[in-house]
Amino acid sequence: MKKLTIIGGGPAALMLAAQINIDKYQVVIYEKKKTVGRKFLVAGEGGLNLTYNSSPDELINQYHPSKFMGPIINKFTNKDLINWLNKEDIPTFIGSSNRVFPEFDIKPIQVLKKIIELISAKKIEFQLNKKWSGWDDEGNLNFEDSESIKSDIIVFALGGASWKVTGSDGLWSNQFKEKGVNIAPFRAANCAFEVDWNKKFIKIHEGKPLKNIALAFDDCVSKGELVVSKFGLEGNAIYALSKKIQDKLLNQVNAQIYLDLKPTLTIEQLKIKYKNSRESKITDILKKDLNLDRTAISILKQFSDKNTFSNPDLILKKIKAIPIIIKSAGKLEEAISSLGGIDLDEINENFHLKKINNSYAIGEMLDWYAPTGGYLLQGCFSMGFSLASHLNNLDVN
Ligand SMILES: Cc1cc2nc3c(=O)[nH]c(=O)nc-3n(C[C@H](O)[C@H](O)[C@H](O)COP(=O)(O)OP(=O)(O)OC[C@H]3O[C@@H](n4cnc5c(N)ncnc54)[C@H](O)[C@@H]3O)c2cc1C
Repeated sequence: MKKLTIIGGGPAALMLAAQINIDKYQVVIYEKKKTVGRKFLVAGEGGLNLTYNSSPDELINQYHPSKFMGPIINKFTNKDLINWLNKEDIPTFIGSSNRVFPEFDIKPIQVLKKIIELISAKKIEFQLNKKWSGWDDEGNLNFEDSESIKSDIIVFALGGASWKVTGSDGLWSNQFKEKGVNIAPFRAANCAFEVDWNKKFIKIHEGKPLKNIALAFDDCVSKGELVVSKFGLEGNAIYALSKKIQDKLLNQVNAQIYLDLKPTLTIEQLKIKYKNSRESKITDILKKDLNLDRTAISILKQFSDKNTFSNPDLILKKIKAIPIIIKSAGKLEEAISSLGGIDLDEINENFHLKKINNSYAIGEMLDWYAPTGGYLLQGCFSMGFSLASHLNNLDVN
């Protein structure tokens, strides 16, 4: 039987282990932390969004590059993931925004425990507190404070570079660079962005949400919500644009986004509401007839001069497109995911690393991007599943 070593204990690794054929492989998972799945648990803190309920094509469109992710997602779709979870006694539900979560009474730790239990039941061994530190001269795997080990097949699933406390620190990139593997620099994704708020505004509105808004950037529009923070803006509407904004910030000192406070209404519809208003003060019209809250009105004021604010035509146009300058991205450490990692040209269609024999890489350590909404976990689970299918089909004896 061939020895299969999986290094890293995140969702990508766990799905691989759950799907691997143990009649073919003797499997050991090495994890440097004292427990596996720490980032999975952090992901669950605000509601464990496991995947997104949409057609496979719509799902795939959310990934970058979708050409790379398409075949992987098609092998293990959102429906497959939901069916698998349900089969493993992890019931799920589809939320109002089409996000998929474990049923209300099931905590993320219970989901993780179930997955660990089913892997352990396959007699797959977990070696915890074992930090991989590179290769020796013979190509064996080195672990800190342990003897080096020899393995027939090695799968790296070491994660990205955000939320270091979970173990995903991206430090593995140094060892891979020494082997000549191209690594794109890590950058924050699904992160906060810096806005120069006026002091008075932020004192009052820090932490306030902007619901049912849309953001436009270049040719993309993202609907959802935002939260005003001291640093700038957070929330799913801006996370979905994070790769594009980050790419712009690589070449320009800042980026301009446009905030639409009323994405469901056209300017014409806003004009009718305005005209039919019984109020005389513009702030009252905005509040009562256009249903804008204090934070939305204050943002509008901050980014409009007096002339615009007192002119119905100009202010209604502004409501649909408030120009906001983004100065920088938030810290990588605090980001939900990272851009960068192993260049996709370094692996073949089965995740095999071209420059390192018998070695594969899956999960967030590869250079792909998806917005929040369950796409990240879906991507990692699909990669674990796809690699397991490939390895299960190999003629290894
Ligand atoms: C705050 C937050 C909220 C999130 N919410 C969601 C969400 O709701 N939905 C969603 O889809 N995604 C979410 N994500 C993203 C999701 O958690 C990650 O995309 C996913 O965990 C990545 O899985 P992975 O298997 O690639 O790696 P990781 O989960 O990062 O696991 C990698 C593992 O490798 C281990 N490791 C690293 N280096 C070594 C080494 N040298 N030796 C041994 N072990 C090592 C690490 O300790 C870690 O356990 C969220 C992330 C964060 C931070």
